[in-house]
Amino acid sequence: MVVPLKSAVLGYAAMAKGQELEQFNYEPPKLKNHDVRVAVTHCGLCYTDIHGIDDYFGITAFPFVPGHEIVGHVSEIGSEVTGLRKGDRVGFGWQGRSCMECEWCSKGEEQLCKDIDKAAAWSPYGGFSSSITVDSRFAYSLPASMPSEFASVLLCAGISVYSPLRSTATGHKPKVGIVGVGGLGHLAIQFAHALDCEVTAISSSPDKEEQALALGADHFVATEDKAGLRNMNLSLDMLLYTGHSGIDWTRLLNTLRNNGKFVMIGFSTVPVAFEPLELVVHQLSITGSLLGSRMVMREMLAFAQERGIKPKVELMPMSQVNEAIRKVKEGKARYRIVLVNDPARTGT
Ligand SMILES: [Zn+2]
Ligand SMILES: [Zn+2]
Repeated sequence: MVVPLKSAVLGYAAMAKGQELEQFNYEPPKLKNHDVRVAVTHCGLCYTDIHGIDDYFGITAFPFVPGHEIVGHVSEIGSEVTGLRKGDRVGFGWQGRSCMECEWCSKGEEQLCKDIDKAAAWSPYGGFSSSITVDSRFAYSLPASMPSEFASVLLCAGISVYSPLRSTATGHKPKVGIVGVGGLGHLAIQFAHALDCEVTAISSSPDKEEQALALGADHFVATEDKAGLRNMNLSLDMLLYTGHSGIDWTRLLNTLRNNGKFVMIGFSTVPVAFEPLELVVHQLSITGSLLGSRMVMREMLAFAQERGIKPKVELMPMSQVNEAIRKVKEGKARYRIVLVNDPARTGT
């Protein structure tokens, strides 16, 4: 048995691009004035972690400790931290800090910070670890009765779907299509339903119909069902694309009505291409959405608690992180995996 240094943090890191994670012990980063150190109890596994390991974004520094859907207890606080005390349960998502000064931070859109490439909670080391250090201004107090495994998923997948949906759901029962019934999509269906949208789940897996309807979808259409998609032509106010793979983009766009919006939150692995005719004639918008601001994050957590939004979560010990990654890559997670730390590792 390896006895770590008393001060060392016990993490799991990819030592190089695309590699399996291995145990990696490191000295905790210096605590800055606004920082908190958090003993990690739960950390969700998100496809973005896998993109990080594979250096999809071209900014990964190795050794790379992934993990950015984090819940734990505050173990140390910096000199200028307000509103948090040692022992408090907190959660945070992908964004662990921002410059707090640029034009975007100044208007409360911290997720668009000019330094967003340096803002990840996994920088320098992420949540697949016994402890993590983040800016306390991005640590969120959680509703007392919200299970930590639910909170961890909501802090990334939840905010990603809630933020674009809330700006569409403005009181006239909008018709929304959720493309993909997976880690993001299963939450998007629940949020859209709770936001009083008429929800159509669109999936490449016809066997997801029952599950989608149980989550709150009003209708289900398989992407291979050309007639079903054609019947939806010019009907939707918004399409939320949560998938990773390619799809018949033109056929999807045809489902949008005048002034409709196609919002991407999933990173398609193939380029998006479509016939421009529909776009022009029906004044469609194609846009993206990234996470959400701190204000929207707080709103989302309260809304999820009040409306009983429940991520479908499978718990696995953090020591089985490589097995968990394999499961997500093979599309076998139903629908999110949350890694749980052994309390002996965190001292909690
Ligand atoms: Zn995530
Ligand atoms: Zn900024």
